[in-house]
Amino acid sequence: MKPVALVIKDLCVSYGKTAALLDVGIEVQDGQIVSIIGANGAGKTTLLNSITGCVPIQRGTITYNGEAVCSKPHKVVRQGIVQVPEGRRTFSGLTVEENLMVGAYLTKSRGEVAGMIEEMYVLFPRLKERRKQHAATLSGGEQQMLAIARGLMSKPKLLLLDEPSLGLAPLVVDSVFDTIRSISRSGITVLLIEQNAIKAMKLSDYCYVLKNGRVDIQGTGAALLANDQVLQAYLGKN
Ligand code: ATP
Repeated sequence: MKPVALVIKDLCVSYGKTAALLDVGIEVQDGQIVSIIGANGAGKTTLLNSITGCVPIQRGTITYNGEAVCSKPHKVVRQGIVQVPEGRRTFSGLTVEENLMVGAYLTKSRGEVAGMIEEMYVLFPRLKERRKQHAATLSGGEQQMLAIARGLMSKPKLLLLDEPSLGLAPLVVDSVFDTIRSISRSGITVLLIEQNAIKAMKLSDYCYVLKNGRVDIQGTGAALLANDQVLQAYLGKN
């Protein structure tokens, strides 16, 4: 078994009096793709935001490779954890290439940045074609690709993806999932939030189903795909 990289224990997060996460425990092994699925409002984004220090935690611990994860977003990136937020959030007034450069802010060497950009263009040939185009004028799928590529420019060891397939046409969704598979094969560990539960289960080594801020069901992707309770409760299938 590979070492457990990310360990979250007894995590509780509230917004004022509203509890968003209650005693959540999650483990992600090195090299795995792990998915968090669940209905709207289940607490999925809050979970990612608490890992990257974007929301304060009330209780519990988050460790990465045995060390406490810093609660400041910029320090979390230095620990190798990079979040690609929901809604893509590229810099709309910057070109594709400028967006990629922003992602490489931790790398000082210009030559190294140029080399990393070329690597991104191999992974995302469409971005190479659009390198001088403003991000605002890209299609939804292209913006998602750019958001992921910009995250990769920070050289993550653990990539957190928040609903990368949201609002994309089915063929583009397939291409995003293929990309996640390639990223994983390149040695990057992936924690994925997805509403597209079936695709997430097929892609993932392990899945957690969140319900009302708690882990309701967990198991390998294959086990959840064969679990009637999951199919009925979350996918409306009998
Ligand atoms: P979705 O799939 O709709 O994005 P989610 O599973 O990611 O949902 P969260 O966004 O984590 O869920 O929200 C969990 C709960 O916390 C929800 O009830 C939500 O209304 C609440 N919540 C989230 N952010 C805030 C906030 N900034 N202030 C107050 N309540 C919040």
